[in-house]
Amino acid sequence: MASVLAPDQLGPTVCVGEILVEIVATTLGEGFLEAQPLVGPFASGAPAIFISQCGRLGGAAAMVGAVGNDDFGRVNIDRLKRDGVDVSAITVDPDYPTGSAFVRYRKDGSRDFVYNIARSAAARFGWSAGVSDLVSRSGHLHVMGSALSVPSAREVIDGAVDIVKARGGTLSVDPNLRKELQLDEDTERRFSRLVATADLLLPSGEELERAAGIAGEADAIRRLFDIGVKEIVLKRGAEGATYFGREGDRIDAPAFLVEEVDPTGAGDCFGGAYLTCRRLGMSPGEALTYGSAAGARNVTVRGPMEGAGTRQELDAFIASTQRRS
Ligand code: ATP
Ligand code: MG
Repeated sequence: MASVLAPDQLGPTVCVGEILVEIVATTLGEGFLEAQPLVGPFASGAPAIFISQCGRLGGAAAMVGAVGNDDFGRVNIDRLKRDGVDVSAITVDPDYPTGSAFVRYRKDGSRDFVYNIARSAAARFGWSAGVSDLVSRSGHLHVMGSALSVPSAREVIDGAVDIVKARGGTLSVDPNLRKELQLDEDTERRFSRLVATADLLLPSGEELERAAGIAGEADAIRRLFDIGVKEIVLKRGAEGATYFGREGDRIDAPAFLVEEVDPTGAGDCFGGAYLTCRRLGMSPGEALTYGSAAGARNVTVRGPMEGAGTRQELDAFIASTQRRS
């Protein structure tokens, strides 16, 4: 069977979208209405977490986005550089601060946020000579649904899809949309078009049915293959993950048994690891093992991408960690 995803040698995986710092409350409770202990800044933003994991695993990787000319921006750029990510298409905005998210977990696991994204550097970038140069030599584009709510990211994604596909590159999409999130009509249409163009789809939970526009897991999978998707991996949190192939093949990957410290970023690390392993030539089964390990390892460490593992770290994790049966 021909490989579904363009090989690493064709050029880097490019991810476009919000780059943020996250600052996390160290106590459980409701929001930020009183002074409290916090820890951070941690490098964050779903697209940035994803690309960090790609780079750490040794895949060719590059990020498109923007930070401010401040320490929060430097935290992100330094971090991605250290992970081996090409940061040449990250803009430093002279006027706006780096995006940020303050997060506090409640006792029931839900979260309260204070965001500064839409009016930060994170939302102020666009198609540029640097982006054009990067995209014209890239082998794969990964799109996070969350980035579609940022107009500048939409513009870059629209331009990049056609160029990457025309040179034999591939596309992966992580819907990454909360159920409650209502998209306007235009964004919803873009989202549907991206799903139909995706070679690999990485939904979690009910995002599968939302992306397919139809209820029921089996029907949703069938519909997505009908419209052209080539490979689907469904993420189920602590319940594990499932690979679905076009020929009706299926692999269930039980989750690793870990103590969850901070669930943020699991899906992004899972996706970054799965995609990178596939582009490096691994089978779906092997890639699922690394993806599951990357997601599980990341939830054991506080900070959205602090637990993203290198190949060596993930091998050690896999060798030493039991899986749920
Ligand atoms: P995110 O909240 O980052 O958007 P997601 O909903 O996209 O996450 P999840 O299903 O939560 O993705 O996590 C992706 C994968 O990571 C899971 O399929 C599983 O393999 C692993 N994982 C996540 N949480 C846990 C956990 N508590 N224990 C073990 N493995 C986990
Ligand atoms: Mg997700």
